[in-house]
Amino acid sequence: MKRITAFFITLFILLSVLSACGQTADVTSDFSVAGDSSSEITSDSATESDSGTERTYDGSLGSAGKLNGKTVVVSIYADDSTTSWDKDDTSDNARLESTLLYLKIAAYWLTSNAGQYTDDVSFVCDWKQCPDLRYDAEFSETLVRPDGEMYQVQRQYIVDNIDSDGLLDKYGAENIIYLYFFNTDFSNEFTPRTFDYGCGPGIDIEYVNMYTGACDFFTPPASYAHEMMHTFGAPDLYYANNVISQSYVDYCESITSGDIMFSTYLGEHISNEFTELDAYYVGLTDSSETVEAWDLGLSEHELYGGEWVEG
Ligand SMILES: [Zn+2]
Repeated sequence: MKRITAFFITLFILLSVLSACGQTADVTSDFSVAGDSSSEITSDSATESDSGTERTYDGSLGSAGKLNGKTVVVSIYADDSTTSWDKDDTSDNARLESTLLYLKIAAYWLTSNAGQYTDDVSFVCDWKQCPDLRYDAEFSETLVRPDGEMYQVQRQYIVDNIDSDGLLDKYGAENIIYLYFFNTDFSNEFTPRTFDYGCGPGIDIEYVNMYTGACDFFTPPASYAHEMMHTFGAPDLYYANNVISQSYVDYCESITSGDIMFSTYLGEHISNEFTELDAYYVGLTDSSETVEAWDLGLSEHELYGGEWVEG
């Protein structure tokens, strides 16, 4: 009962905060699916294209730079060789609707936390209010998978079908990210994953593969926020990588860190923390006490801001 009450409170807050198309999105929650347990793709395969309709990126960190200004979120409900959405099925539709609510909760959480550092941050993500932010796609390939082998396939869908420049202009936005939603059940063992600029200079269009069910649970709003943080440059904290050391990972484990980039909690309210370390890596600050104390790597904003890095 408590949980149901919390859900409706969340819904109420959401509806109160969300407003017309083009305005700031929206809300928050918890559970324990640790983001994307597999490492992000590290391939630097070329993504050059001579398509005249393609957005010309200015080299500022892919399709999403700093967690600042306005960000357009495009939702793509995708069928692949192993999963599909049955739009005539009541339970599929309920699940599909929940993805929008969770997306709004994540966008609100990001907005309110980033708001501690900037007064200029917002998301446009409600495809009910803004129908041009929703797409329904069919793929013959297997896209629910543990690797990044299909990056180009999904990227090309975006290039061919979505007028990204038009959306950026229409909404007056600086950033655009894409969330692919796959209708997976609890038995799915792959957790959500993000293909972001930090995965390699070949990643210019930044998108997330969200799985509605994973590892015995519905994917919670905290996972949405975690993945979206990646697109702005936040690294995972639960394994050592090019910027995070093993000793810092060990430290996070020792204190059972609540940092959203370390673990994501279940529930409809995001109770994870947005730390000063996260703020630094998503470009909201120029320095971080934690980075200095632990000698962690520099943010992509500091390393590559405004520059296109050749592969
Ligand atoms: Zn992650």
